[in-house]
Amino acid sequence: MSKTVVLTGAGGVLCSTLAHALAKNGYKVAVLDLREEAAEKVAKGINQNGGNAIGVQANVLEIKSLQRAKQQVDKAFGACDILINGAGGNHPLGTTSNPFLVAEDLINKNDEFKTFFDLDVNGIQFVFNLNFIGTLLPTQVFAKDMIGREGCSIINISSMNAFTPLTKIPAYSAAKAAVSNFTQWLAVHFSKVGVRVNALAPGFFLTDQNRSLLTTDDGSLTQRGNQIIEQTPMGRFGEPEDLIGTTLWLCGDGSKFVTGVVVPIDGGFAAYSGV
Ligand code: NAD
Repeated sequence: MSKTVVLTGAGGVLCSTLAHALAKNGYKVAVLDLREEAAEKVAKGINQNGGNAIGVQANVLEIKSLQRAKQQVDKAFGACDILINGAGGNHPLGTTSNPFLVAEDLINKNDEFKTFFDLDVNGIQFVFNLNFIGTLLPTQVFAKDMIGREGCSIINISSMNAFTPLTKIPAYSAAKAAVSNFTQWLAVHFSKVGVRVNALAPGFFLTDQNRSLLTTDDGSLTQRGNQIIEQTPMGRFGEPEDLIGTTLWLCGDGSKFVTGVVVPIDGGFAAYSGV
């Protein structure tokens, strides 16, 4: 019997690609997203390609919304076997304008320019909630039914900035470090009940969120874009499809003795000291 996968944030770039790939590999796929239209669109595309998917509106920060989504998934496909916690992201209010603070930044600066001292607690809380609480709550809702069943597992989406923080994005880096840490904690906690917990740590993937930071209007690289490519031994950005193989491996029996790992998928970025 084919397994049921629930993916949050699956109306987005990376997890919609995973949703399509999982469906192609015979999984029943529940596409959850805050944006109902986006979830429906991805599910429709999967069904048109011969897969089996439903689109479900769900907010990963609201337990009631997740419980409603769970009812829809249970009714359509039965209990969730694999949960992929994909919803996540950054916020401009948790981001500094410059990588390094210099004394001049503090004088005569305009309101647009954000130093560490201007970071807004609301922006930081938004990022911590979305990435960390948004991983914890869906796990509480969907993992309970996994207990005592064979072959169930959870895949969180961390980031390579969890290993070493990236400049300018302290909130997002710390929130993803929390996701990696939670992945290990939960792997241990669930180890006696047969539920494996692992995470992907994607490197730099060119998506709508970061395209304007990394490329210019004519398609060439910004200074930050260039820096990233220079720091990536394999010399390119990731493509969403680069995440598929590791995800299928972590979902399947091939990884049945693997739990508590955070797998970098970053072209060597995290391994490279730059020298
Ligand atoms: P994306 O913005 O394309 O997708 C994120 C999706 O999450 C969106 O469809 C959005 O509607 C949904 N979402 C936002 N808030 C939600 C909520 N409260 N409840 C439910 N859904 C919500 O982003 P992406 O690039 O596909 O990223 C997917 C995951 O991968 C995120 O966790 C992100 O942090 C992580 N990641 C991305 C990159 C990258 O380079 N793109 C790198 C490392 C990690």
